[in-house]
Amino acid sequence: AEREGRYTAATVLAVANQKGGVGKTTTSVSLAASLAELGLRVLLVDFDPQGNASSGLGLRAHPGQASVYDVLVDAVPVEQAVVPTSQPGLDLIRATIDLAGAEVELVSAFSREHKLRRALDAARDQYDAIIIDCPPSLGLLTVNAMTAADGVVVPIQCEYFALEGLGALRRNVDLIREQLNPNLEMTGFVLTMLDARTRLSQQVVDEVRSHFGDRVFKARIPRTVRLAEAPGFGQPITQFDPSSRGAMAYRRLAQEVVERLDRRANDQQRDTEQG
Ligand code: ADP
Ligand code: MG
Repeated sequence: AEREGRYTAATVLAVANQKGGVGKTTTSVSLAASLAELGLRVLLVDFDPQGNASSGLGLRAHPGQASVYDVLVDAVPVEQAVVPTSQPGLDLIRATIDLAGAEVELVSAFSREHKLRRALDAARDQYDAIIIDCPPSLGLLTVNAMTAADGVVVPIQCEYFALEGLGALRRNVDLIREQLNPNLEMTGFVLTMLDARTRLSQQVVDEVRSHFGDRVFKARIPRTVRLAEAPGFGQPITQFDPSSRGAMAYRRLAQEVVERLDRRANDQQRDTEQG
């Protein structure tokens, strides 16, 4: 039987930062799994040709199985590309290395920035949240993700130069809002790989907070070996080590995201009632 949705339509969140290795994939997978644990119907879209979210969930693509490339380039319907994961309530659309070619193949395509949006819009009523794990660039794939999204979630690794590149990212979000997706919001910044014992981590936390204020999620993700190990076992941290510090931190993040989604749903409800 189909599960009753929490919301009438999914909110789409793009997890983006053009820097590699900042925790985008770990955040996408762990947040998606934690939201599903809370009872939401969640779709995770692996949108990085490296396919780390897919392999991290033990679901490497195989020939004959539709992937996000087919959805994007050949307009294969989302439901044909969706696979269930080990976490109840969490579905995945896998990525394969083909996706690297999509950026070039789409260059001359009509309305190339809207391809992912078109595809996901048709699946919005099936889910409460759709999470897109973006590649480490601001190219056409990330533009597609941000055009499809309602909000952008930005992981920031707690290290030197943490804020470097965020100016370009925010300008990109502003451009997409002006030209392609007027409703795009900067949902929030997630501090990742925090080492509470170091002064550096605390300095980064303070600096990020002074820049972005309450846009910074209160949940902070610690640097832990368990989070780095989970993908090798093909499981989200919430299943791999449910009581670990990493799992607890991502659950707190999921709680904050749900608060924002609830608020969004209430606002929309009120707008509809007021006509
Ligand atoms: P991105 O998708 O931005 O490239 P990843 O999520 O793949 O970043 O993280 C980069 C690497 O750091 C991966 O090997 C991942 O397992 C590891 N990692 C991510 N978050 C943590 C964390 N909180 N603690 C320890 N290792 C982490
Ligand atoms: Mg990644």
